[in-house]
Amino acid sequence: MKVFKFGGASVKDAAGVKNVAAILKLYPKEEIMVVVSAMGKTTNALEKLVRPKNKSEEKEVLEEIKQYHLKIAQELFKDKKASIFSTLEKDIEHLQKIVSEYPTKNYDERYDQIVSMGEVMSSHIVSVYLSSEKIENEWIDAREIICTDNNYRDAKVDYDKTCEKLKAIVIPAVKKKKIAITQGFIGRTAKNKTTTLGREGSDYTAAILAYCSDAESVTIWKDVPGVLNADPKWFDNTVKIDHLSFQDAIELSYYGATVIHPKTIKPLQNKSIPLYVKSFIEPKEEGTCINNDSTQLPVPCFIFKVSQVLISVSPKDFSFIVEESLSHIFDILARYKVKTNVIQNSAINFSLCIDDDENKVPALIDALRKNFRVLYNKNLELVTIRYYDQATIDRVCIDKKILLEHKSRYTVQIVMQDNK
Ligand code: ASP
Ligand code: MG
Repeated sequence: MKVFKFGGASVKDAAGVKNVAAILKLYPKEEIMVVVSAMGKTTNALEKLVRPKNKSEEKEVLEEIKQYHLKIAQELFKDKKASIFSTLEKDIEHLQKIVSEYPTKNYDERYDQIVSMGEVMSSHIVSVYLSSEKIENEWIDAREIICTDNNYRDAKVDYDKTCEKLKAIVIPAVKKKKIAITQGFIGRTAKNKTTTLGREGSDYTAAILAYCSDAESVTIWKDVPGVLNADPKWFDNTVKIDHLSFQDAIELSYYGATVIHPKTIKPLQNKSIPLYVKSFIEPKEEGTCINNDSTQLPVPCFIFKVSQVLISVSPKDFSFIVEESLSHIFDILARYKVKTNVIQNSAINFSLCIDDDENKVPALIDALRKNFRVLYNKNLELVTIRYYDQATIDRVCIDKKILLEHKSRYTVQIVMQDNK
């Protein structure tokens, strides 16, 4: 079995859904598990419904989501009585009901019940459209398969239970119909509550399904030709990488390369299942193959992050940074669920670079200030270069003031301020 994942950009309109069918037709004999994300920017829109500013915003956003999906369905199905319209009607009603009735006291729990509906609607449209194109398929509710704990918005997967469910539900469906369609990003607790695996988590779903079914490969279909050595948004002259080792892929996604969700690689690496990143625009092109072969990259890879905050923490009594203070600092970071992008310590100073999240940073700084002296700089940039050399570093740092530099054998991380 192969696992294909189609992200939001690949199903953002009717043409995108048609293109999914065209790609599947290139693989007529294969057994394929298809994982789809919510269409276009639906997840962002759904997020607004978790805690809408007022009733009129709630109504507006619901209507926007409804019309967006209906328009795609109308372009795909000329027959107004096609089953997709009643299915979508039910999905929207269900969404409305959760938005108005689900308790608001646990934000994360409510979030998952609402936001998961994007994937449900998207997979319904794709599945019914494929059937209308004579691509036989079975729609599967991912919540019946992906078993998780109740850590809403970042749920942890119970692999043993998930593998059991997959063998009982997905494998027979794929054997019978060759193609099964399910949702990325979503799962369910033992108590039947919907959970999500973290934003952009559909890649991870594809990896979990591949792991549990010992799939022959996973393909992530994207709007880029494969994994590039830098994000074209920030860098000119990017090059496509034909081959990447799992190790490099883990490192790059960990440091913030957005092409693959960081949790995706490990399960595939454990079972040596190759991961292909291919273009849904040029589906016959090679793309990037990520596997166990350990070749070093032929070019430096860049990961660029903006809106960084560099926080410097030191004990109030000018004592040294010792294990006890470190443990206290990490305890606070864990409590506020803050992920550090770079950390560095000296005798009396501990520095950490983090994303400037307005919901977390002020509270984190307040908490640190109870026991430490805290200084910070905002509006910084962080560049990570894997397979760096000095010439590359110099080129990237032109017109920048370097605030922190952290080098290991293959990777350098530089926190800097734009001098312009
Ligand atoms: N729809 C979800 C998101 O936008 C999951 C995904 O796209 O991978 O975060
Ligand atoms: Mg997405």
